[in-house]
Amino acid sequence: MPSPAGPHLPGSFTKNFAWHGKGLLKLHEGIRRGFSSNLQPVTRQAFRSACGLDDAGFLLAANFFLFNTPVGPNNIIPVDELVRQAVQEPHSSAFDRLGLFVLNLSLGGRRVGNNVGNEYPTQWANEFVRQSLWQAGRWQRGALEESGMDSFLASRIRAGAPAKRKMRSNYRHIFELVRYLPNPPGPIDSDPQSWAAGALFTAWDRRGLTASSPRQTAASLIAASIAEEDYKLLGITVEEFRELAEPIAGQYELARGLQRLQPTVHRTGGATTAVATASGATGPTISAPRAIAPLSAPTSAAAADLSWLTTASATDAAVARQIEQRLAQKRNQLLAMRLKAHYGHTCMACGSRLAVGLDPERFYSEAAHIKPLGKPHDGPDSPDNMIVLCPNHHLQFDRGIVSLEATRGGFRFVSHIPKDPIHHRALTLEPGHALDASCVTWHASLFRSKTT
Ligand SMILES: [Zn+2]
Repeated sequence: MPSPAGPHLPGSFTKNFAWHGKGLLKLHEGIRRGFSSNLQPVTRQAFRSACGLDDAGFLLAANFFLFNTPVGPNNIIPVDELVRQAVQEPHSSAFDRLGLFVLNLSLGGRRVGNNVGNEYPTQWANEFVRQSLWQAGRWQRGALEESGMDSFLASRIRAGAPAKRKMRSNYRHIFELVRYLPNPPGPIDSDPQSWAAGALFTAWDRRGLTASSPRQTAASLIAASIAEEDYKLLGITVEEFRELAEPIAGQYELARGLQRLQPTVHRTGGATTAVATASGATGPTISAPRAIAPLSAPTSAAAADLSWLTTASATDAAVARQIEQRLAQKRNQLLAMRLKAHYGHTCMACGSRLAVGLDPERFYSEAAHIKPLGKPHDGPDSPDNMIVLCPNHHLQFDRGIVSLEATRGGFRFVSHIPKDPIHHRALTLEPGHALDASCVTWHASLFRSKTT
């Protein structure tokens, strides 16, 4: 776990960088222009003159999002996933949330020397998320309210009250632009499925750029992310993070990590020909051990674009199919995990919670699909086809010995076991969780169909 530094200096975060709506469109455009629509590293100076948005407000703020690294006398902005998306993909809300993530990741900008040592200019934002915004597995609304931010800034920032107010309003402004603010009461749903893949690709790119060893395996990527508490920057629990990140890390490894951003080659017959990178730039001819098409990370784990593998070998295509299936499985596991956590792992049939260790907060439950997934039933993999059960009741439910029936106000359990105490017990659904009645009707016929 990274140790807290500071107190921090406010740096240029006190300058006004109002971006006037449209999410982080200005950042997206600025990066694309700053890189002249190429996936080639640029000097800070070249970026500044090419981005065409030569106002101090944009350039100062862009500094918080872009990575840069000294190479000889120059300060270089390398290509990472954030840059790749800005150059190659249209602006989207997923890009905006990636932007917020990299701001909070705080591996951007110049390392600034000051009295308290070297730090990244948004190091405080990283600490804010990990120590204040994230509590009990979610982003908590209160931390983003003005009083919540003010108490964090009061304890961590060495500056006068006006500077702290400016930092607070600038930071909240980003949350407004990416539409996490204003938000309804309760924990904030960060919706990480829509942007986690891009976020983790960027985090791993940046760590790879500073790592002494470029070798990154899926396991080492996940370990580093957990050590750095990336899950807090995604607004999820560490268990949810493992589920979500595992297929993304596998994909990152398969995509050859940072190497995916390098020019690549195809072997056609005996000839080796340089092919354009996805940006359209033609790279130098280099020898490659395998023919693999230019790679791109999915902007969303939910809609992983694996089209880059269609031109690769049959083996690669098979791997892609497996990854696609695993991504879908993991995505659904995340849904199930959230539902189980929502019910505190309490069996909806018998009300029991199964302890599985000495930790008083750790319980085990299962998410039961009312209408089974896959052929031939093809039940939907969504919470409206799921209930939370203990393993015993899950087994009985899957056999149809225990079922559900609709009542005037909702649903109740039906048990075919004589004198079963759960027979005719009402099913209590938490707010925000409804069931698909057609799935319940389907399930109710399961016992009849098996006994006749
Ligand atoms: Zn039970």
